[in-house]
Order: sequence, then structure tokens, then C-alpha cells
Amino acid sequence: LVAREVSAPMLAEFPVGKLKAIVSIQGSNNSHAAILARAMGVPAVMGLGGVPLSMLNDQELFVDGYSGQVVLAPEQQARNEFIQLILEEEALNERIESESDQPAKSVDGCEMTLLVNVGLSAGLEMEQNKQGAGVGLYRTEIPFMLRERFPSEQEQFELYHSLLSAHPNKEMTMRTLDVGGDKPLSYFPISEENPFLGWRGIRLTLDHPEIFLIQVRAMLRASIGLTNLQILLPMVSSISEIDEANRLIKQAFYEVKEDAIKNNKVLFKPAIGVMLEVPAVIFQLELIAKKVDFFSVGTNDLTQYLLAVDRNNSRVAQLYSSYHPSVLIALNQIFQTSNLCNIPVTVCGELAGEPSGALILMAMGYRKLSMNAHSLR
Ligand code: PEP
Ligand code: MG
Repeated sequence: LVAREVSAPMLAEFPVGKLKAIVSIQGSNNSHAAILARAMGVPAVMGLGGVPLSMLNDQELFVDGYSGQVVLAPEQQARNEFIQLILEEEALNERIESESDQPAKSVDGCEMTLLVNVGLSAGLEMEQNKQGAGVGLYRTEIPFMLRERFPSEQEQFELYHSLLSAHPNKEMTMRTLDVGGDKPLSYFPISEENPFLGWRGIRLTLDHPEIFLIQVRAMLRASIGLTNLQILLPMVSSISEIDEANRLIKQAFYEVKEDAIKNNKVLFKPAIGVMLEVPAVIFQLELIAKKVDFFSVGTNDLTQYLLAVDRNNSRVAQLYSSYHPSVLIALNQIFQTSNLCNIPVTVCGELAGEPSGALILMAMGYRKLSMNAHSLR
């Protein structure tokens, strides 16, 4: 797939296994489209810049997602070298697959809980998840993006129930709708000058409590008789948002519980968590810890907002780094405070799925990482 701009909804429409590689002239490595490409295990170069699209037409391309290079119609020798690299990559993948049942334990005995990020097709992604891990982040906005209208409560119920009931002993963390920014809904257009600082995540759903309530009711109904649902709130920047979200969840809980009791069924209270991805919350962690059950660190947005670098803008992509000292100091501080507050904390941003990122997070003390199925193997 070669396009001027590859968006997340566009990618999500391709059946799994249909794409060999992705090249996008605009965008960046940290966009949601890039995250989806990684989850699909498809090599992608995003934000190629300055190349006319027509130049890539009908050409053989070698796409190196590791280095971010696209090689156009290479000479025979370069071609042979690329083919050799592809074979080596396949052999490495096979070796990794054969070791995927090993415990997630370091040589010095440090045990990690590894979870998977899903959203594209949660059932299928769980099948590909050979480690059999629970879900640390279900991006529920992706099934919304794949439709032409808001899914009804019943449609959402069926989607969530199939996942929760298929894995009753594994934690399933479902994030409430996080649209806005580079995750648009075709049937709910938002036009803003500054979408990443605009109407995203919890801001939008609290302004439209009917959307939030329908989704939470669907999640709760789907969890009747089960104990594995956890609800995660995206893009929180202030305590009042948590209070309001908690109030709405409580309302939905009592409504659904009444129905459950009438049918002689039990509804368990789900754990409620907050995404730590807007820097403001880092300074109020103690207070927030008293209001929720767990934290999940979104390093993708945390990096974007701490460094004031648009995660989707190829022009400033070289400034976007989750290894920037300020991001690492923030991550360390988050772990220390969470530990003092005795509140569980997971990292679910892309950093958790990078080998060096995972190592740094482990060294800080984090013991729960959630990543795409491809990185998890
Ligand atoms: C994050 O921001 O790190 C995150 C996990 O959420 P998303 O990438 O969906 O914004
Ligand atoms: Mg985010």
C-alpha cells in the first residue's frame, strides 16, 4: 500500500495478511496508523516526505521498516542482499516463535507480566497471541472506526462479550472510546486547528455522556457473571474528569446490576484505571490513586505532550523520542509514586514493546508491560 497519507481507519479495512508493506508520504512512525502496522506485523515507512507519489507507481519497492528506508527498483546485487535480509528475518521469527512458550523471566529471576494491546480484531489478535497473555489495552475506538455509524449497545455488548467470555481467567482492560486527534470517525466529523490538543478521549465522551454510558453499559453487561473486566479512561487531565467518569460508571453499574439480579446473575465491580498520558496527571498521582484502582502509562502521548512534538508530523519526527531524559525521568517518577501509593501500574505505550524500552522500564521497577502481539512473541 503506497499512499500520500495512510490513516488508521484506512489500514484497518485491509484483511489480515493482505499487505506486504506500507509506505506513506505523510505521517510519522508514532501515528496510530504506524502502531496498527506494527500490530499487523507489516513493514512500514511513514513520513517518507518530498517524493512524488507518481515516482513509486508500478515499481518494485523494498521497504525496510527498521531503518525507515524505501529502495526503488534496486540493482541486482542490492536486490539479492535485500532478499537475503528477508530470509534472515524469517529465520529469526521462526526461532522467536519456537521460544514463545518460555516464561517471561529475566536471567536474574525478575518475573514480568506481559499483556497484549488489541483493537484491530480483538478475537483474532488473541489467537495470534501465542503467549496467552491477558489484554492490557483494548483500543475500543478501532471497531468504531471500522463502521459507518456508532455501534449500538447490543453490537458493542456482543463484541466485548465474545472477548471477555473467551478468556475468563485473563484480565481484559477495555479503554473507553479515544477518538479525536488522528483517530477520526467518518460519521462524527471534528474539525479543529489543533486536534491533538482538542476534543479527544474522555473530553469528548464526557461532553456526550450518552456515548460513554452506552459503551460502559455494554462493557458491564458483557461482564455479567465474569470477573475479568477492567475499564480504562483515556486522555484524563484533571480530577473532575475522573469524578464525572466514576459517577457515570456507577450509574451504569446500578442499572446493569438491577437487570442482572432479575435474571439471577451476578455483576462484579470492574477495576477502573486512568491512562497516564497527559503530563498534568503526573503531579496529582497521589490524589488520583485514591480515586481509581490502577494506572496505565501511555508513553506515546506522554512523549508527545511532554516534548510538545506532534506524534503525527514527519517534520518534527526526529524530535519525538520516548528516550528523551525528561520522558525517562517522568516514567521513573510515575513508578516511584505508584509504588508508594500501592497502586498497580502498567505501561501500554509503544516503548513497552521495544527491546531497549522494555529493559529500561524493568530497571525502573515496572513489572507489567502491554504491547502489540507482534512485539510480544
Ligand atoms: C499512548 O498514548 O501511549 C497509548 C497507549 O494510547 P494511544 O497510542 O492509543 O493514544
Ligand atoms: Mg494515547
